[in-house]
Amino acid sequence: MPLYEYRCESCGHAFEILRGLHEKDEDVICPRCGQKRAERLMSAFSSAKGSSSSSSLSSCGTGKFT
Ligand SMILES: [Zn+2]
Repeated sequence: MPLYEYRCESCGHAFEILRGLHEKDEDVICPRCGQKRAERLMSAFSSAKGSSSSSSLSSCGTGKFT
């Protein structure tokens, strides 16, 4: 379920709610003032995870046939 960010136009309170896709256009009640004046903001997913480059060392064993 995606996380949407809303901001109340009445009191300016910003909050996030988990909503379904079919609920995203429905009215959102501000948890602070209780007004249905919240507008949806563009949610920016900033997941900055360091990509670990794994270097695989392959050791070749030299076999001798005697
Ligand atoms: Zn509000």
